[in-house]
Amino acid sequence: MKISEIIAKQGKSLSFEFFPPKTPIGEDRLLERINKLEAFSPSFVSFTQHAGRNTLEKTKHIVRKVHDVANLTVMPHITCADPRRVELQQVIDYYKESGIENILALRGDPEEYEPGIFDGETHFRYATDLVKFVATYNTFCIGVAVYPEGHMESANLAIDTAYTKKKIDEGAEFGITQMFFENYYYYEMVDRFEQAGIKVPIIAGIMPIIDFAKVERFSEISGVELPIPLITKFEEAQPDDVLQMGIELASEQCLDLWENGVRYFHFYTLNRGDAVTEILNNLASTFS
Ligand code: FAD
Repeated sequence: MKISEIIAKQGKSLSFEFFPPKTPIGEDRLLERINKLEAFSPSFVSFTQHAGRNTLEKTKHIVRKVHDVANLTVMPHITCADPRRVELQQVIDYYKESGIENILALRGDPEEYEPGIFDGETHFRYATDLVKFVATYNTFCIGVAVYPEGHMESANLAIDTAYTKKKIDEGAEFGITQMFFENYYYYEMVDRFEQAGIKVPIIAGIMPIIDFAKVERFSEISGVELPIPLITKFEEAQPDDVLQMGIELASEQCLDLWENGVRYFHFYTLNRGDAVTEILNNLASTFS
């Protein structure tokens, strides 16, 4: 089912993001975790496709597998970095033939920028170009990335909003946010979007801190602010306490969002179902 239809029907949405496992054993473990998370009736699950790291085939494989074996709506991520433009059609055709109805269209963040990448010739340059291309199929509900603090390459928030609007105008039907740890960034972004005439649902991307070093690295790469008290708290924590602290923090974040009217939640699971399960158990009475 299309995510736009699910959201319109349910008035809320809950989703989980995974990355494609590298090995068959990893795949079995992931399928078990997904199976457990099905108890929360997710609106959809999504699979990343790491630009420039040749994960495209792995993403295609796991998307098809989960679509075939689980009773779930599955959304692949696609980036401008990989595949090249000439191969893009085959990839989209593959998803169409597999019965996939949703795509998250991204520019991608390759670790190394090979010559020609994002030149607009061999590769599309911006996510907008990819949205425009996928929209020509008239088959998929398209989602895009949005940034509560602005994308780190955007000169300012007004420019960031203008390019986001362009992605929506080209056919995107919902946005999923980058992780954020201060909810006011989300509220301010939604206000900016409303003023700019962006009317699509904006799903809050929640990153439970279960590995602080990893989140610090993501924050450096993406320019996402980690509030000083949060850094201090996690730096001073005993290693055994981190998981529980991360669960509590994400539960409080979601509760505040819910109390402020947010009904769309996307969890970056980092392929670990345990933390998300506990967070959702903490929120069961609120979210039901
Ligand atoms: P764009 O929308 O193209 O924006 C990139 C920059 O270009 C922005 O600064 C924007 O303001 C600017 N811009 C846009 N259009 C124009 C224009 N016409 N002229 C000038 N400037 C312009 N990365 C991966 O590699 N794989 C994944 O699976 C993945 N999944 C993600 C999932 C979510 C929910 C999110 C939030 C991000 C994800 N990313 C992923 C990261 C993403 O690829 C990066 O944040 C990337 O740097 C930007 O992608 P984008 O789609 O937002 O790009």
